[in-house]
Amino acid sequence: MKVEIEQYSGFCFGVQNAIKKTEEALKSGETIYCLGHIVHNEAEVERLEKLGMVTLSSDEFQNLKDSKVVIRAHGEPPEIYETARRNNLEIIEATCPIVRNIQNRVKQNFDKNGAAVQSLIFGKKEHAEVKGLIGQTAGRSVLLSSQEDIHKIDFDKPAEIFSQTTRSREKYRELIRKIREGYEAKGYDGKEMLRVHNTICGQVANREPRLKKFCSEHEIIIFVSGKSSSNGKMLYGVCENVNKNAYFVSDSSEIKESWFEGISTVGVCGATSTPKWLIKEVADKIDRIKPQNI
Ligand code: SF4
Repeated sequence: MKVEIEQYSGFCFGVQNAIKKTEEALKSGETIYCLGHIVHNEAEVERLEKLGMVTLSSDEFQNLKDSKVVIRAHGEPPEIYETARRNNLEIIEATCPIVRNIQNRVKQNFDKNGAAVQSLIFGKKEHAEVKGLIGQTAGRSVLLSSQEDIHKIDFDKPAEIFSQTTRSREKYRELIRKIREGYEAKGYDGKEMLRVHNTICGQVANREPRLKKFCSEHEIIIFVSGKSSSNGKMLYGVCENVNKNAYFVSDSSEIKESWFEGISTVGVCGATSTPKWLIKEVADKIDRIKPQNI
């Protein structure tokens, strides 16, 4: 049985950057707080917590004073920076530069157009990155989690649309098409009324075609990801569509030997929030059960 790790699996650039900054700050020996989980991966959070990082909920953050806090790759809305200023918190800025750039574009458009142009955000409700984007318009953006939400749009007013960076490119395209049809049904030019910003991250979008190829080359796919990772759920969906023999695991303890009976090629891959060491640990465990099946 051949076990292969997909070479593009592992942390994206934004998460790598946030973890590096946190590790650097922890070297001082001080407690470093992080607002929310630094990455949607329980094993990596646990590793950093052992080094002295403390994960805070939003309520705990409101009461924290005179400390150092990491703003993770997803970014935060302006009110979080305002609280930090009031409570004398030193920010360790780890917002991914790509997310920061989108936040700036959402803000610039809103400041320029005000209520005359609707600001639409395609993303997951309550996701930190989405809250950070909506926060740029003082909460006035319209959140579209799926096509079912397009009734929230005023089709007599133009709109600008931005996507959360980790959404599926295909679903974004479908949504745009539906919105434009909505404008056209009212006699407007759909392209003129809806200005589209291509804000899906290349690190995620490029993984889809590569992952599809990888999944088609193996008899069984083991996808490693934290259960709360949106990107993990989305990429696992990509794997499942190509290979019906795909399994989602959080760590090596969830591996079942029975999955590998009669199998000769195993592909191991993960989300952009899955650490490479965890993927390797899973692959090693599969490698160790190999002798019982051949
Ligand atoms: S997925 Fe892309 S935008 Fe999001 S944190 Fe990673 S590199 Fe940044």
